[in-house]
Amino acid sequence: MPTSNFTAKLLELEEIIISDFTSSNTEIHIHFSLPRKPCTCPHCLGLTDKVHDYRISIIKDLPIMGKHTFLHYRKRRYHCPLCGKHFYEPFSLAAKHCRTTTRLAFYAIHLLSERQCVRSVSRLLDLSDSYIFRRLKAVQFPKPDRLPTVLSIDEFKGNAGGEKFQAILTCPDKHSLFDILPSRSQVSLQQYFQGFKNKKEVRFIVMDMNKVYRELAKDYFPQATIVIDKFHVVRYVTWALENVRKRIQKQLHPDKRKYFKRSRKLLLTHKSKLKEESMDALAVMLSQSEDLAIAYHLKELFYDFMKSMSRTEATKKLKFFLLAAQASQLKEFHACLTMLANWSKYILNAFDCPYTNGFTEGTNNAIKVIKRNAFGYRNFKNFRNRIFLALT
Ligand SMILES: [Zn+2]
Repeated sequence: MPTSNFTAKLLELEEIIISDFTSSNTEIHIHFSLPRKPCTCPHCLGLTDKVHDYRISIIKDLPIMGKHTFLHYRKRRYHCPLCGKHFYEPFSLAAKHCRTTTRLAFYAIHLLSERQCVRSVSRLLDLSDSYIFRRLKAVQFPKPDRLPTVLSIDEFKGNAGGEKFQAILTCPDKHSLFDILPSRSQVSLQQYFQGFKNKKEVRFIVMDMNKVYRELAKDYFPQATIVIDKFHVVRYVTWALENVRKRIQKQLHPDKRKYFKRSRKLLLTHKSKLKEESMDALAVMLSQSEDLAIAYHLKELFYDFMKSMSRTEATKKLKFFLLAAQASQLKEFHACLTMLANWSKYILNAFDCPYTNGFTEGTNNAIKVIKRNAFGYRNFKNFRNRIFLALT
Protein backbone atom coordinates (compact mmCIF):
# COMPACT_ATOMS: atom_id res chain seq x y z
CA MET A 1 0.00 0.00 0.00
CA PRO A 2 1.52 3.39 -0.94
CA THR A 3 2.35 5.73 1.99
CA SER A 4 -0.29 8.21 0.88
CA ASN A 5 -2.92 5.53 1.43
CA PHE A 6 -1.78 5.06 5.01
CA THR A 7 -2.02 8.81 5.57
CA ALA A 8 -5.48 8.78 4.04
CA LYS A 9 -6.46 5.97 6.41
CA LEU A 10 -5.06 7.95 9.33
CA LEU A 11 -7.21 10.88 8.31
CA GLU A 12 -10.17 8.54 7.90
CA LEU A 13 -10.57 9.81 4.34
CA GLU A 14 -9.93 6.77 2.20
CA GLU A 15 -10.47 8.37 -1.17
CA ILE A 16 -8.09 11.33 -1.04
CA ILE A 17 -5.13 11.85 -3.32
CA ILE A 18 -2.19 13.10 -1.29
CA SER A 19 0.23 15.26 -3.21
CA ASP A 20 2.57 16.42 -0.45
CA PHE A 21 3.31 15.83 3.23
CA THR A 22 5.60 17.94 5.45
CA SER A 23 6.30 17.64 9.14
CA SER A 24 8.20 19.88 11.58
CA ASN A 25 8.64 19.62 15.36
CA THR A 26 5.27 21.20 15.97
CA GLU A 27 3.22 20.96 12.76
CA ILE A 28 2.12 18.51 10.11
CA HIS A 29 0.92 19.70 6.69
CA ILE A 30 -0.95 17.36 4.36
CA HIS A 31 -1.75 18.47 0.82
CA PHE A 32 -4.50 16.61 -0.98
CA SER A 33 -7.44 16.66 -3.35
CA LEU A 34 -10.42 14.38 -3.92
CA PRO A 35 -10.74 12.17 -7.02
CA ARG A 36 -12.65 13.77 -9.86
CA LYS A 37 -16.04 12.19 -10.48
CA PRO A 38 -19.50 13.22 -11.68
CA CYS A 39 -21.32 15.31 -9.06
CA THR A 40 -24.94 16.25 -8.56
CA CYS A 41 -25.62 19.97 -8.91
CA PRO A 42 -27.25 21.19 -5.66
CA HIS A 43 -29.23 23.82 -7.63
CA CYS A 44 -30.89 21.72 -10.35
CA LEU A 45 -29.89 18.15 -9.34
CA GLY A 46 -28.31 17.61 -12.76
CA LEU A 47 -25.17 15.46 -13.03
CA THR A 48 -21.88 17.05 -14.15
CA ASP A 49 -18.12 16.37 -14.13
CA LYS A 50 -17.12 19.64 -15.78
CA VAL A 51 -14.53 21.38 -13.57
CA HIS A 52 -14.71 25.16 -13.29
CA ASP A 53 -11.63 25.83 -11.11
CA TYR A 54 -9.69 24.84 -7.97
CA ARG A 55 -9.05 26.68 -4.71
CA ILE A 56 -6.80 25.80 -1.80
CA SER A 57 -8.42 25.69 1.61
CA ILE A 58 -6.27 25.33 4.71
CA ILE A 59 -8.21 23.46 7.36
CA LYS A 60 -7.03 22.70 10.85
CA ASP A 61 -7.62 19.11 11.91
CA LEU A 62 -7.16 17.02 15.05
CA PRO A 63 -3.53 16.89 16.21
CA ILE A 64 -1.48 13.93 14.96
CA MET A 65 1.39 12.69 17.15
CA GLY A 66 0.86 15.74 19.36
CA LYS A 67 1.52 18.10 16.42
CA HIS A 68 -0.92 20.66 15.08
CA THR A 69 -2.23 19.30 11.81
CA PHE A 70 -3.21 21.36 8.76
CA LEU A 71 -4.99 20.01 5.71
CA HIS A 72 -4.24 21.83 2.47
CA TYR A 73 -7.30 20.81 0.57
CA ARG A 74 -7.35 21.60 -3.14
CA LYS A 75 -11.07 21.85 -3.55
CA ARG A 76 -12.71 21.50 -6.91
CA ARG A 77 -15.49 23.71 -8.18
CA TYR A 78 -17.77 22.18 -10.79
CA HIS A 79 -19.67 23.90 -13.54
CA CYS A 80 -23.24 22.78 -14.21
CA PRO A 81 -24.03 23.06 -17.93
CA LEU A 82 -27.76 22.59 -17.22
CA CYS A 83 -28.31 25.61 -14.98
CA GLY A 84 -25.00 27.39 -15.52
CA LYS A 85 -24.18 27.59 -11.80
CA HIS A 86 -20.94 26.65 -10.00
CA PHE A 87 -20.63 24.54 -6.89
CA TYR A 88 -17.97 22.89 -4.73
CA GLU A 89 -17.61 19.12 -4.60
CA PRO A 90 -19.00 17.56 -1.41
CA PHE A 91 -16.49 17.30 1.43
CA SER A 92 -17.36 15.56 4.66
CA LEU A 93 -14.63 16.77 7.03
CA ALA A 94 -15.52 20.43 7.34
CA ALA A 95 -18.52 22.64 6.82
CA LYS A 96 -18.51 25.20 4.02
CA HIS A 97 -16.14 28.13 4.70
CA CYS A 98 -15.02 26.48 7.94
CA ARG A 99 -11.31 26.58 8.66
CA THR A 100 -11.43 23.73 11.15
CA THR A 101 -12.70 20.19 10.72
CA THR A 102 -15.95 19.21 12.38
CA ARG A 103 -14.13 16.53 14.35
CA LEU A 104 -11.72 19.11 15.79
CA ALA A 105 -14.71 21.10 17.02
CA PHE A 106 -16.21 17.92 18.51
CA TYR A 107 -12.94 17.14 20.21
CA ALA A 108 -12.78 20.63 21.74
CA ILE A 109 -16.32 20.18 23.06
CA HIS A 110 -15.43 16.71 24.33
CA LEU A 111 -12.49 18.15 26.29
CA LEU A 112 -14.81 20.74 27.80
CA SER A 113 -17.16 17.95 28.84
CA GLU A 114 -14.20 16.37 30.64
CA ARG A 115 -14.31 19.54 32.74
CA GLN A 116 -11.26 21.18 31.19
CA CYS A 117 -11.56 24.93 31.07
CA VAL A 118 -11.94 26.87 27.82
CA ARG A 119 -8.48 28.42 28.16
CA SER A 120 -6.68 25.10 28.52
CA VAL A 121 -8.59 23.55 25.59
CA SER A 122 -7.84 26.51 23.34
CA ARG A 123 -4.15 26.32 24.27
CA LEU A 124 -3.92 22.58 23.78
CA LEU A 125 -5.52 22.68 20.33
CA ASP A 126 -4.02 26.04 19.34
CA LEU A 127 -7.43 27.55 18.78
CA SER A 128 -8.74 30.90 19.94
CA ASP A 129 -10.97 31.22 23.01
CA SER A 130 -13.58 32.87 20.81
CA TYR A 131 -13.59 29.84 18.50
CA ILE A 132 -14.29 27.55 21.47
CA PHE A 133 -17.05 29.87 22.68
CA ARG A 134 -18.60 29.93 19.20
CA ARG A 135 -18.61 26.13 19.14
CA LEU A 136 -19.98 26.02 22.65
CA LYS A 137 -22.76 28.36 21.61
CA ALA A 138 -23.64 26.09 18.70
CA VAL A 139 -24.15 23.10 21.02
CA GLN A 140 -27.84 22.60 21.73
CA PHE A 141 -29.25 21.32 24.98
CA PRO A 142 -32.96 21.96 24.38
CA LYS A 143 -35.47 22.49 27.16
CA PRO A 144 -36.75 19.04 28.23
CA ASP A 145 -40.26 18.05 27.05
CA ARG A 146 -41.50 16.48 30.24
CA LEU A 147 -41.10 17.25 33.90
CA PRO A 148 -39.79 14.50 36.20
CA THR A 149 -41.85 13.01 39.04
CA VAL A 150 -39.37 14.26 41.64
CA LEU A 151 -38.06 17.76 41.06
CA SER A 152 -35.63 19.81 43.09
CA ILE A 153 -35.45 23.61 42.81
CA ASP A 154 -32.50 25.58 44.05
CA GLU A 155 -30.35 28.49 43.02
CA PHE A 156 -26.69 29.34 42.69
CA LYS A 157 -24.74 32.53 42.24
CA GLY A 158 -23.71 32.29 38.61
CA ASN A 159 -23.53 35.98 37.67
CA ALA A 160 -24.39 35.10 34.08
CA GLY A 161 -26.36 37.01 31.46
CA GLY A 162 -26.85 40.01 33.75
CA GLU A 163 -28.53 38.02 36.53
CA LYS A 164 -26.79 37.39 39.83
CA PHE A 165 -28.61 34.14 40.65
CA GLN A 166 -29.56 31.32 38.32
CA ALA A 167 -32.07 28.60 39.12
CA ILE A 168 -31.08 24.95 39.01
CA LEU A 169 -33.54 22.10 38.57
CA THR A 170 -32.47 18.52 39.23
CA CYS A 171 -33.99 15.07 39.59
CA PRO A 172 -32.82 14.08 43.06
CA ASP A 173 -34.07 10.49 42.72
CA LYS A 174 -32.13 9.93 39.51
CA HIS A 175 -29.16 12.08 40.48
CA SER A 176 -29.37 13.99 37.25
CA LEU A 177 -29.41 17.60 36.14
CA PHE A 178 -32.77 18.64 34.69
CA ASP A 179 -32.23 22.25 33.63
CA ILE A 180 -30.52 25.54 34.38
CA LEU A 181 -32.60 28.71 34.11
CA PRO A 182 -31.26 32.22 33.52
CA SER A 183 -32.98 33.67 36.58
CA ARG A 184 -34.50 32.48 39.83
CA SER A 185 -37.20 35.16 39.72
CA GLN A 186 -40.84 34.23 40.07
CA VAL A 187 -41.69 35.46 36.57
CA SER A 188 -38.92 33.53 34.92
CA LEU A 189 -39.85 30.32 36.78
CA GLN A 190 -43.53 30.79 35.92
CA GLN A 191 -42.72 31.24 32.24
CA TYR A 192 -40.58 28.15 32.31
CA PHE A 193 -43.09 25.84 33.98
CA GLN A 194 -46.08 27.09 32.03
CA GLY A 195 -44.86 25.31 28.92
CA PHE A 196 -44.99 21.79 30.38
CA LYS A 197 -48.03 19.65 29.72
CA ASN A 198 -47.32 16.99 32.36
CA LYS A 199 -47.29 19.24 35.45
CA LYS A 200 -49.70 16.81 37.15
CA GLU A 201 -47.09 14.08 37.05
CA VAL A 202 -44.78 15.93 39.44
CA ARG A 203 -45.19 14.15 42.77
CA PHE A 204 -42.49 15.74 44.94
CA ILE A 205 -40.80 19.13 44.89
CA VAL A 206 -37.70 19.43 47.02
CA MET A 207 -36.51 22.91 47.99
CA ASP A 208 -35.02 24.94 50.77
CA MET A 209 -37.09 27.51 52.63
CA ASN A 210 -37.86 29.91 49.83
CA LYS A 211 -41.30 31.52 49.69
CA VAL A 212 -41.15 32.15 45.93
CA TYR A 213 -40.53 28.47 45.23
CA ARG A 214 -43.22 27.43 47.67
CA GLU A 215 -45.88 29.69 46.13
CA LEU A 216 -44.86 28.59 42.68
CA ALA A 217 -45.14 24.94 43.67
CA LYS A 218 -48.62 25.56 45.11
CA ASP A 219 -49.77 27.34 41.95
CA TYR A 220 -48.31 25.03 39.34
CA PHE A 221 -48.10 21.69 41.12
CA PRO A 222 -50.96 21.66 43.63
CA GLN A 223 -50.94 17.87 43.74
CA ALA A 224 -47.21 17.63 44.52
CA THR A 225 -45.79 17.22 48.02
CA ILE A 226 -43.44 20.05 48.98
CA VAL A 227 -40.40 18.70 50.76
CA ILE A 228 -37.99 20.95 52.62
CA ASP A 229 -34.48 19.65 52.64
CA LYS A 230 -34.11 18.95 56.35
CA PHE A 231 -30.38 19.61 56.39
CA HIS A 232 -31.11 23.26 55.58
CA VAL A 233 -33.15 23.55 58.75
CA VAL A 234 -30.41 22.59 61.20
CA ARG A 235 -28.47 25.76 60.56
CA TYR A 236 -31.19 27.86 62.22
CA VAL A 237 -30.63 25.93 65.43
CA THR A 238 -26.85 26.06 65.23
CA TRP A 239 -27.02 29.84 64.55
CA ALA A 240 -29.17 30.27 67.63
CA LEU A 241 -26.79 28.27 69.78
CA GLU A 242 -23.79 30.15 68.38
CA ASN A 243 -25.45 33.48 69.15
CA VAL A 244 -26.11 32.45 72.74
CA ARG A 245 -22.48 31.39 73.08
CA LYS A 246 -21.26 34.74 71.67
CA ARG A 247 -23.49 36.67 74.09
CA ILE A 248 -22.32 34.68 77.09
CA GLN A 249 -18.67 34.79 76.07
CA LYS A 250 -18.79 38.60 75.80
CA GLN A 251 -20.19 38.92 79.31
CA LEU A 252 -17.68 36.51 80.78
CA HIS A 253 -14.91 37.56 83.17
CA PRO A 254 -11.55 37.34 81.30
CA ASP A 255 -10.36 34.65 83.73
CA LYS A 256 -13.10 32.34 82.63
CA ARG A 257 -12.62 32.76 78.87
CA LYS A 258 -10.19 29.83 78.89
CA TYR A 259 -13.18 27.51 79.31
CA PHE A 260 -14.38 28.56 75.87
CA LYS A 261 -11.44 27.22 73.88
CA ARG A 262 -12.66 25.30 70.80
CA SER A 263 -16.12 26.16 72.08
CA ARG A 264 -17.79 26.26 68.66
CA LYS A 265 -16.70 22.76 67.76
CA LEU A 266 -17.50 21.39 71.22
CA LEU A 267 -20.99 22.87 71.15
CA LEU A 268 -21.93 21.88 67.62
CA THR A 269 -20.65 18.30 67.59
CA HIS A 270 -23.25 15.64 68.37
CA LYS A 271 -22.93 14.80 72.07
CA SER A 272 -22.75 11.12 71.23
CA LYS A 273 -19.65 11.74 69.13
CA LEU A 274 -17.64 13.59 71.79
CA LYS A 275 -14.67 11.89 73.44
CA GLU A 276 -14.42 11.77 77.22
CA GLU A 277 -12.03 14.72 77.60
CA SER A 278 -14.21 16.83 75.30
CA MET A 279 -17.23 15.89 77.38
CA ASP A 280 -15.43 17.23 80.45
CA ALA A 281 -14.50 20.48 78.70
CA LEU A 282 -18.09 20.84 77.50
CA ALA A 283 -19.47 20.31 81.01
CA VAL A 284 -17.16 23.03 82.41
CA MET A 285 -18.21 25.42 79.65
CA LEU A 286 -21.92 24.79 80.12
CA SER A 287 -21.60 25.26 83.89
CA GLN A 288 -20.66 28.91 83.22
CA SER A 289 -24.12 29.87 82.01
CA GLU A 290 -27.61 28.48 82.38
CA ASP A 291 -28.68 30.03 79.07
CA LEU A 292 -25.86 28.28 77.28
CA ALA A 293 -26.73 24.97 78.89
CA ILE A 294 -30.37 25.36 77.83
CA ALA A 295 -29.41 26.36 74.29
CA TYR A 296 -27.13 23.33 74.11
CA HIS A 297 -29.90 21.06 75.30
CA LEU A 298 -32.21 22.50 72.64
CA LYS A 299 -29.65 21.80 69.96
CA GLU A 300 -29.35 18.19 71.10
CA LEU A 301 -33.15 17.88 71.06
CA PHE A 302 -33.17 19.15 67.51
CA TYR A 303 -30.38 16.79 66.42
CA ASP A 304 -32.44 14.00 67.92
CA PHE A 305 -35.50 15.13 65.96
CA MET A 306 -33.42 15.11 62.78
CA LYS A 307 -32.55 11.46 63.31
CA SER A 308 -36.22 10.42 63.38
CA MET A 309 -36.95 7.34 61.30
CA SER A 310 -40.60 8.12 60.56
CA ARG A 311 -42.98 11.03 60.24
CA THR A 312 -44.80 10.02 63.42
CA GLU A 313 -41.57 10.01 65.42
CA ALA A 314 -40.44 13.29 63.83
CA THR A 315 -43.79 15.00 64.56
CA LYS A 316 -43.55 14.00 68.22
CA LYS A 317 -39.94 15.12 68.59
CA LEU A 318 -40.48 18.40 66.80
CA LYS A 319 -43.41 19.22 69.08
CA PHE A 320 -41.21 18.48 72.08
CA PHE A 321 -38.47 20.74 70.72
CA LEU A 322 -40.93 23.58 70.03
CA LEU A 323 -42.32 23.45 73.57
CA ALA A 324 -38.83 23.44 75.07
CA ALA A 325 -37.62 26.30 72.83
CA GLN A 326 -40.66 28.44 73.67
CA ALA A 327 -40.26 27.73 77.38
CA SER A 328 -36.57 28.70 77.26
CA GLN A 329 -37.47 32.29 76.30
CA LEU A 330 -34.09 32.59 74.66
CA LYS A 331 -34.36 35.43 72.15
CA GLU A 332 -31.72 33.81 69.96
CA PHE A 333 -34.21 31.03 69.13
CA HIS A 334 -36.94 33.40 67.90
CA ALA A 335 -35.88 33.21 64.24
CA CYS A 336 -35.75 29.44 64.46
CA LEU A 337 -39.25 29.27 65.98
CA THR A 338 -40.69 31.58 63.31
CA MET A 339 -39.10 29.48 60.60
CA LEU A 340 -40.55 26.29 62.07
CA ALA A 341 -43.99 27.87 62.39
CA ASN A 342 -43.90 28.66 58.67
CA TRP A 343 -42.31 25.54 57.38
CA SER A 344 -42.69 22.60 59.76
CA LYS A 345 -45.46 21.03 57.66
CA TYR A 346 -43.07 20.76 54.72
CA ILE A 347 -40.09 19.82 56.85
CA LEU A 348 -42.05 16.86 58.23
CA ASN A 349 -42.74 15.74 54.65
CA ALA A 350 -39.03 15.04 54.40
CA PHE A 351 -39.47 12.16 56.85
CA ASP A 352 -41.92 10.46 54.49
CA CYS A 353 -39.57 10.29 51.53
CA PRO A 354 -35.89 9.77 50.83
CA TYR A 355 -35.40 13.01 48.86
CA THR A 356 -32.97 15.76 49.84
CA ASN A 357 -31.14 18.55 48.04
CA GLY A 358 -27.84 16.72 48.47
CA PHE A 359 -27.44 16.03 44.77
CA THR A 360 -28.31 19.63 43.87
CA GLU A 361 -25.75 20.93 46.31
CA GLY A 362 -23.08 18.66 44.86
CA THR A 363 -24.01 19.97 41.41
CA ASN A 364 -23.80 23.56 42.64
CA ASN A 365 -20.27 22.87 43.86
CA ALA A 366 -19.30 21.47 40.46
CA ILE A 367 -20.78 24.59 38.82
CA LYS A 368 -18.68 26.76 41.12
CA VAL A 369 -15.55 25.05 39.81
CA ILE A 370 -16.65 25.56 36.19
CA LYS A 371 -17.32 29.23 36.88
CA ARG A 372 -13.99 29.71 38.62
CA ASN A 373 -12.05 27.98 35.82
CA ALA A 374 -13.69 30.25 33.28
CA PHE A 375 -13.35 33.42 35.39
CA GLY A 376 -17.13 33.73 35.04
CA TYR A 377 -19.53 33.62 32.10
CA ARG A 378 -21.24 36.69 30.78
CA ASN A 379 -23.29 34.77 28.26
CA PHE A 380 -25.94 32.63 29.91
CA LYS A 381 -26.30 30.18 27.02
CA ASN A 382 -22.56 29.43 27.03
CA PHE A 383 -22.68 28.94 30.77
CA ARG A 384 -25.66 26.61 30.55
CA ASN A 385 -24.04 24.60 27.75
CA ARG A 386 -20.84 24.36 29.70
CA ILE A 387 -22.69 23.02 32.75
CA PHE A 388 -24.64 20.49 30.67
CA LEU A 389 -21.48 19.32 28.91
CA ALA A 390 -19.66 18.78 32.16
CA LEU A 391 -22.49 17.30 34.18
CA THR A 392 -24.62 15.22 31.84
ZN1 LIG B 1 -27.35 22.89 -12.12
